[in-house]
Amino acid sequence: MPGANLRRTRTVPAGRNPPSLGTYDVMASLRVLVAEDDPAIRELLVHHLSRDGFITVEAPDGNAALRHGRDGVALIVLDVGLPGVDGFDVARTLRREGHSAPILMLTARADEIDRIVGLELGADDYVVKPFSPREIVARVRAILRRSGQPHEPGPQLLRFGRLEIDDRAREVRVDGNSVGLKPREFALLRALADRPGLALSRDALLERVWGYDFDGDQRTVDVHVRRLRMKLEEQSGLPACVHTIHGFGYKFTQP
Ligand code: CA
Repeated sequence: MPGANLRRTRTVPAGRNPPSLGTYDVMASLRVLVAEDDPAIRELLVHHLSRDGFITVEAPDGNAALRHGRDGVALIVLDVGLPGVDGFDVARTLRREGHSAPILMLTARADEIDRIVGLELGADDYVVKPFSPREIVARVRAILRRSGQPHEPGPQLLRFGRLEIDDRAREVRVDGNSVGLKPREFALLRALADRPGLALSRDALLERVWGYDFDGDQRTVDVHVRRLRMKLEEQSGLPACVHTIHGFGYKFTQP
């Protein structure tokens, strides 16, 4: 959408929307697929891309990358060395099937660079490991700009039906009415809503919302989820949107 003002709320076209998410309005958000088998690298990329306002989808292997790539995403960050189907074959297959999402390839080896460039797999850019996550985010933005899908980083408004999460006002609204959330409650909901449908572990949530240095325990997350549910569901009449994954953590779905 060249020249589109992404600060306006727009509806994600049905074809680009995975069925599991239902329909939702997203402002200034684009879905980026992160296909990387190393969980530490994947988590790092997801963290930085999410913080920059992107909605991320994760794939730990080649088959998952193909599945999400076919669902439709704005861009694919694609590791060459993926288990199952490797990054080269993922790129080739998606291109052959007519999927045109830009691809940023991650490689660990010089000889792979020759193949990325030489085979014309349809990759738009590549980065050699080790890399800085900031560099990846900058490249992702540059590629989207070049491909006519400019991304305005920073504060945004996420809209899920009756629920709005407004970064600029640090406010959550149901039916337009402000729900009084404390900062940690807001951050927790924001972290969950960043990745609708994906389960996040208590540890991941602790790290994201309370930070690496936090030395409390996992029950902290449970306590805050309880308060969130009380405010959103009991006080504001919203259907359940934060779901318990027993023995693991929580996930967000559109209420
Ligand atoms: Ca790898």
